[in-house]
Amino acid sequence: MTTTLACPLCRSDKKMHKAKLLYGTPVCRKCLYKFANRRQIGYVLDWLLWLFISFWLGTMLGFLLGVMDVSDPVFKRINFFLAWFVFPLIFFCKDGFVGYSLGKLICGVRVVHIETLQPQGFLSSFKRNLILIIPFMPLVIAFLLNKGHRLGDGWAESKVIWKKYANHPVFTGQLACENCQYDLAGNVSGVCPECGTPISVVNQQRIRVVDSASPLLVQ
Ligand SMILES: [Zn+2]
Ligand SMILES: [Zn+2]
Repeated sequence: MTTTLACPLCRSDKKMHKAKLLYGTPVCRKCLYKFANRRQIGYVLDWLLWLFISFWLGTMLGFLLGVMDVSDPVFKRINFFLAWFVFPLIFFCKDGFVGYSLGKLICGVRVVHIETLQPQGFLSSFKRNLILIIPFMPLVIAFLLNKGHRLGDGWAESKVIWKKYANHPVFTGQLACENCQYDLAGNVSGVCPECGTPISVVNQQRIRVVDSASPLLVQ
């Protein structure tokens, strides 16, 4: 495989000597970690927000039940239900607001469908986040998400994209113009015939890959 000169995302060649694969495409380490950090920070923000919401909901409900003078067993059952079903459910569904949680919105990352690239809803969010219930899994995932896909994305058929590069082939995985999404299969001119944008290094690679039918970079 030929090494590329510039990172397809930041277009700098400074860190490309140790390029890493993001969704199967070589990018510079700086971009790789920047994207991973956004996802990690987004998660921590969501987690803090969830703790805050759970705490206040729990406190308010506890107060309410106290005023209503419910019996101890009922109080315990409601507590159990909240702790094991309602609060976890809120967390699992957090990415379902058209692909955003508050943390993801702040950090500029979004959950989309792996093929259609459409923003995902609550069911998909539930599927991809259910795995976080396993102890220490969030930590494990935090270290493993550098490549792009993380555990849980398979079942949910989801992927996380960097909003700033939403149309970039690194994230779309498609051989299409970053600017206008025109299909670039078989392109030889080096510019997009639809909008005139020069064809990026990633797309040049993808054209070569498609032409030579090599399994490299094909996701
Ligand atoms: Zn870069
Ligand atoms: Zn174009």
